[in-house]
Amino acid sequence: MPLPSKRTDIFSESIIRKMTRIANQYNAINLSQGFPDFDPPPELLERLAQTCKTGPHQYAITWGAKNFRDALVKKINHCTGLSIESEKNIVVTCGSTEAMMASVMSVCDPGDKVLIFSPFYENYTADTVLTGALPLYISIDPDTLEFDRKEFEKAASQGVKALILCNPSNPTGKVFTIDELEFIASMATKYDFFVITDEVYEHIVYPPYKHIYFSTLPGMFDRTLSCSSLSKTYSITGWRLGYVFGNEKILDRGKKVHDFLTVGAAAPLQEAAIAGLEMGDEYYAELQNEYIEKKDLFLSYLDKAGLEYIDPMGAYYVMVKIPAEVSDDNHFAEWLIKNCGVAAVPGSCFYREPVHSYIRFHFVKKKETLIQAGEKLLLIKQKIGEYRR
Ligand code: GLN
Repeated sequence: MPLPSKRTDIFSESIIRKMTRIANQYNAINLSQGFPDFDPPPELLERLAQTCKTGPHQYAITWGAKNFRDALVKKINHCTGLSIESEKNIVVTCGSTEAMMASVMSVCDPGDKVLIFSPFYENYTADTVLTGALPLYISIDPDTLEFDRKEFEKAASQGVKALILCNPSNPTGKVFTIDELEFIASMATKYDFFVITDEVYEHIVYPPYKHIYFSTLPGMFDRTLSCSSLSKTYSITGWRLGYVFGNEKILDRGKKVHDFLTVGAAAPLQEAAIAGLEMGDEYYAELQNEYIEKKDLFLSYLDKAGLEYIDPMGAYYVMVKIPAEVSDDNHFAEWLIKNCGVAAVPGSCFYREPVHSYIRFHFVKKKETLIQAGEKLLLIKQKIGEYRR
C-alpha cells in the first residue's frame, strides 16, 4: 500500500474529541468539548420547521445565499460600525473552521510563516500545515495571560505572512486589550502581514472587558480576514454556519478557495438562521447575562472545591490548575472522569510549550448540569488522597 501524505503525519486524534469519547464511555458529565446541552432560540427552530416545507433544499450561491448574506452583513455592520457589502466583502462557510482554513489558504503559500499565539485552539496548526505553511508560536504566559512584545517582534520580523488571532480566546478566555491590539496592528503594518481573526466568542465577554473587532482598528481592515460563526451566538454548533469578511480582492480569492473546499454551507440552515440575525440588541444583552450567570455558578463550585483557576474575560471556558498532588494534566483528566464523573480537556494539548498544570472546563451547559458537575467536583477533595500516578 502507498504511504499517506507526509504533511499529515503529525496529526493525531483531537484531544478534545478523545475526551468526549472517554466521557461517553464512563457516562461522565462532558465539560470537555464545548457545546450546549440546551436548545437554540425558538425563533430559529420555528423558521427551520417552516423551511423544511418551503425550502430551499438545493445549493445556495456558493459564497452564501443572498438573503442570508444581506441579513449577516446588516448585523455585522451594526455590531462593528463597519460598512461592508454583501456582494463584495463576505463569504459564508461551513463553520468558522472552514472560514479559518479558507483564509489561511487564500493568503499563504507553501513555505510561508504563520504566527500563532500559544496556547491555541487545535485547528490553527492544522490550517497552517495543510496549506504547507510553517507555524511559529508566541507564548502567552499561562498564569498572567500576557505576551512578551520583544518576543513577538522577533518572531514577526522573520518575514511572516499572517498572524492568527483568536479573540476572545479559546482556551484561556483572554480578551485582548486595545493596547495589545494596537501593538499587533503596528507590527502588522511594520512587517506587512495579514491578520486572520477567529472571533466566534465575540458576544460572550464578561464586563468590564469589551470585545474589539481587530478589523476596526485604523488601517487594519484591508489586511484582516475576520472569521466568525453563528455556532456560539445562537447555540447552533451543529449547523456549521460561519463566515469570513474583509477586503474585496482578498475575499474574491476566498470565494474560490471556499467553492473548491466545500461548495457551500447548508442552504436550509442559512435560511433558518436568518431568524437569529434579525434579532435585536436585547438578544445579545440577554445572551451575555446568561453566560455571566453560568460562569459565576460554575466558578463558585471551583472555589468550594478549593481549585485555583484563571477567571475568564470572555468565551465559555475556564483553565483550572490541577491539584498540587498531581503532575500530569492528561492523567488527571482521565482520573477525574473515572473517579468524579466530570470530563475536562488536558490543558497541555493547547500549548506548544510543555505546560502540564491546567485542565480546561467549559460551562456552556444548563444550570442543572453545571450544578450536578459542580457537586461532583467537590469530590476531588475527598478522593485526591487516593490519587496514584
Ligand atoms: N470549540 C469547541 C471546543 O473548543 C469544540 C471543538 C471541537 O469539537 N472541535 O471545545
